[in-house]
Amino acid sequence: MDFTLIVPAAGSGSRSGRQKPKQYVEILGSPVLTHTLRSFTSLEECKEIIIAIDGTWRREAEYAAVGIERLRFVDGGSERQESITNALSASDPAFPLVLVHDAARPCATTDLIERVLRATETFGAAIPVVPIHETVKRVAADGTIIETIPRDQLRAAQTPQGFQRDILMRAYANAAAHHIIATDDASLVEATGVVVHTVDGDWQNIKITIPADFARAEEIIRGRMG
Ligand code: C5P
Repeated sequence: MDFTLIVPAAGSGSRSGRQKPKQYVEILGSPVLTHTLRSFTSLEECKEIIIAIDGTWRREAEYAAVGIERLRFVDGGSERQESITNALSASDPAFPLVLVHDAARPCATTDLIERVLRATETFGAAIPVVPIHETVKRVAADGTIIETIPRDQLRAAQTPQGFQRDILMRAYANAAAHHIIATDDASLVEATGVVVHTVDGDWQNIKITIPADFARAEEIIRGRMG
């Protein structure tokens, strides 16, 4: 099924330790954002790409997107959620599905994207997840442990996250009405009572966050060029 790809890319990436936002830092000669977009360009069903950016970095964004078709920019907001709201308003309702993928995840494979896409077509809402290997604690402000959370049911959520357009639109309207703030889109959909399905994520689909993630992403991308 045809889909709109929304890429929130308006963050400042303050934890990455770089002068420019992480999505514009180059890996193997291309900006992180370029690698991110390339993961989707081979998919025939990807009918439009809407990227939410901070206008301060417009030149970098345009450079990163050069040669990629059916692509538009919108202004991002101060929160990821606001950036996606703007992108949703600008997107074409003719396409039944919306996939949201973080600009800072340059290593998503076509296989992973197709897994999410097929599950979204079947269930209406689907996201990739991976198990958590560490033991997870809830910690108080003074550094003491409040509780240990059993990890067998815990999963880390990745992107792309896929939704039927009307499900995602309703979730954003509900979040705005009830002032719900979340760090991913599935949370907003869950809040409307819609069941979100999961598919196997990919360990290599990392979100660049801290300085060491750039080297890791480079290693993954280089390994695939081989
Ligand atoms: O900060 P974090 O890595 O969780 O951000 C996830 C994604 O959301 C990034 O691609 C970032 O550029 C984007 N974002 C955005 N608008 C904001 C904050 C973050 O588009 N105001």
